[in-house]
Amino acid sequence: ESASSYIGRFAPSPSGPLHAGSLVAAMASYLDTRAHQGQWLLRIEDIDEARTVSGAAHDIEAALHTFGMRWDGPVLVQSQRKQHYRDACDRLGARVYACGCSRKEIADSRLGVAADGAAIYPGTCRNGLAPGKIARALRVRVPDRGQDGEEIGFEDRWLGWQSQHLATEAGDFVLKRADGFWAYQLAVVVDDAEQGVTHIVRGVDLLESTERQIYLQRLLGYPMPSYLHVPLVKHTDGEKLSKQNGAQALDLSRPLDELHRAAKFLGLEMTTATEVAAFWELATSAWQRRLAQLPT
Ligand code: GLU
Repeated sequence: ESASSYIGRFAPSPSGPLHAGSLVAAMASYLDTRAHQGQWLLRIEDIDEARTVSGAAHDIEAALHTFGMRWDGPVLVQSQRKQHYRDACDRLGARVYACGCSRKEIADSRLGVAADGAAIYPGTCRNGLAPGKIARALRVRVPDRGQDGEEIGFEDRWLGWQSQHLATEAGDFVLKRADGFWAYQLAVVVDDAEQGVTHIVRGVDLLESTERQIYLQRLLGYPMPSYLHVPLVKHTDGEKLSKQNGAQALDLSRPLDELHRAAKFLGLEMTTATEVAAFWELATSAWQRRLAQLPT
């Protein structure tokens, strides 16, 4: 086998500096790439321009640098790739339809809540905009209950077999949002495919998005990457750590402390490194031992 056909990536949203949770995700993907002697790509997911904080992308790159994490090739920036998302959306053809429903109307239909917390879309505009509505978003049609392709599953390298019934657990989902921005689900699929990403390693908060992404991969004729979702650092109250709810910034003056804390969170058993380069050597072996211990 040549050096490796493995291509991994880290895809942060620049809504604030790197925090403990994003460091864990970055570390897991970086270690898995090192363990496979692959390439590690960096992609700035600034597609949600309303949430983008100016300077955050630069801060994230500087932090990765301080932590001794080096990416291969140029950094892909999603806000510069809108034409690619438009092209992919066009290729989905008649599966995509314009929707004029408001968030409230969808919630009022009480079809239930998708895994990611959004209300399941009742399909009101599936066969044309309902009278009196104006197009707000673009949605993709998922197969109806019981139809071929309705259930999508995959083997997660950390968590084992996962599956979702798209009709009842996701519903027809948004590809282009009412505010005009392309949705994460579409952008991530297009970019992972166009960058040739073979292995996705990320936080478990994105687990429930995976089946929708696999669905889009199938429609667009893209290969399916392999997936591994790592546990997520939480606040002591159990809430997801995010830049929005005041996750503490990492202490970049003590990179080794932060690295060891993240490694411990991932359950890596290793001796303490006294320099960053040595940390990555030790942690890569520890990562391989950790994967070997997983039940799956
Ligand atoms: N941009 C996403 C985030 O920061 C991650 C996307 C992914 O890894 O698929 O939550």
